[in-house]
Amino acid sequence: MTIRPGNGGRKSDAKPGSDGVMYTPSWRELHRYVVSTQLCSGCSGCIVECPYDMLTYDGDVPRQHFLPNMPADFCLVAENRECDFCARACPRLGDWELDAGRLLFGLDYPGKADEMGHYQDVVVARARDAEIFHAGVDGGVVTGLLVWLLDQGLIDGVILSGFDEGRPWIPVPLVARTAEEVVAGAGSKYTYSANPLALLDASAADLHNLAFVGVPCQIEYIRKAQVTNFGDSPLRRFVDRIKLTVGLVCSEVFAFEGFMNNLIAKGLDVDLKDVRLIKIKGKILVYLKDGNVKEVSLKDAKQYSRPQCSYCGDFTAEWADIAAGGMGTMDWTILLLRTSIGKDVYRKAERAGIFETAPVHDFPKSFELLKKVSLKEKRIQMSRYETLREQDCIGPEVVTWPK
Ligand SMILES: Cc1cc2nc3c(=O)[nH]c(=O)nc-3n(C[C@H](O)[C@H](O)[C@H](O)COP(=O)(O)OP(=O)(O)OC[C@H]3O[C@@H](n4cnc5c(N)ncnc54)[C@H](O)[C@@H]3O)c2cc1C
Ligand code: SF4
Ligand code: SF4
Repeated sequence: MTIRPGNGGRKSDAKPGSDGVMYTPSWRELHRYVVSTQLCSGCSGCIVECPYDMLTYDGDVPRQHFLPNMPADFCLVAENRECDFCARACPRLGDWELDAGRLLFGLDYPGKADEMGHYQDVVVARARDAEIFHAGVDGGVVTGLLVWLLDQGLIDGVILSGFDEGRPWIPVPLVARTAEEVVAGAGSKYTYSANPLALLDASAADLHNLAFVGVPCQIEYIRKAQVTNFGDSPLRRFVDRIKLTVGLVCSEVFAFEGFMNNLIAKGLDVDLKDVRLIKIKGKILVYLKDGNVKEVSLKDAKQYSRPQCSYCGDFTAEWADIAAGGMGTMDWTILLLRTSIGKDVYRKAERAGIFETAPVHDFPKSFELLKKVSLKEKRIQMSRYETLREQDCIGPEVVTWPK
């Protein structure tokens, strides 16, 4: 389980203000305790949920743009104590894991919990379809599964990270409606893609059966919004459209300018439009469209790590229905089937014959590595939080909305 500062975003967390009224945190507190402390992962959940379009996405973080001349932590609606949606949605504010744990992994849940959270099964697989396998970063299982779900009519769209033809390798949050669009989005972009933003397009297109692919911090937003004021929360108008979450194992992402432009484009003297795929396997492997492969040291990339990722302890997408990674494997995807929904969907696709599978015990090092890194990330997160606590940067004090 991860740890969080403060008590943000639930009626039961409201605190009395100086006038004796109960208030919950809103944009001011979110800005103070999350955005300005680098706790903010940039998941974009607060922007999606803001009903008044007060926030925009700017440099991987939310920014108040409605009244640009006012301070960054000012929201007109929140100051009038009429809204706290952003704080309610933010997974880095307040405790929501117990509720989410009950919802996803209730008492009757047959799975187990260890360094990597709860899961029912671990499988290793790769896509049989040659085009999908070629497009995928590991075994292409994530793409294969999503294409199969669309083909079966079980979902009407997939939220993922696509590409923009005119701006090579800039990740674009996208609602894919066809198999071609899903395959075009395959592969890992190691810079941040705020996939939840595509929920706004999915909602405008009136899609109600979505699969969502994203990094763990984005799955956390979805789960927090699903369990906040469970049953009647207006927050659920977007996230309830998501029927399956696929979380990508994630240790960190890098800043675009440093990683893609300096390290890869300039460092390897390649044009980004000629790069087909990037894999991180101890080192960074850059696959070019002409068939050549170039390499760069992972150590050289560390200077471009996003600082906010060091506050994240959710390496293996603990709240996803299915978590997918490629730690220590080449051309195979390791999957943690966490929830019953995730397990059922994967098993159905497997029975349909779309995957080649391998015994997990053929990859003993990968599995141990996943556990080891997961534990390490949690320890780093805890020490980061400790520092914030010492700097008195944790926990809400002023709160803004009467309940
Ligand atoms: C930033 C990042 C860091 C990762 N770090 C690790 C790691 O440390 N250890 C590990 O074992 N695995 C890591 N992974 C997961 C791994 O790279 C593969 O995504 C996973 O194994 C699934 O492989 P696949 O071939 O089945 O996926 P694919 O079939 O290639 O599908 C991948 C899906 O992920 C989506 N996607 C790609 N990039 C992003 C992004 N930046 N944000 C949101 N969605 C995205 C794509 O749109 C696509 O739908 C990381 C992935 C990312 C994106
Ligand atoms: S919801 Fe996401 S983007 Fe918004 S403040 Fe929280 S972590 Fe940052
Ligand atoms: S490490 Fe990955 S999951 Fe964690 S904040 Fe960074 S991008 Fe999000």
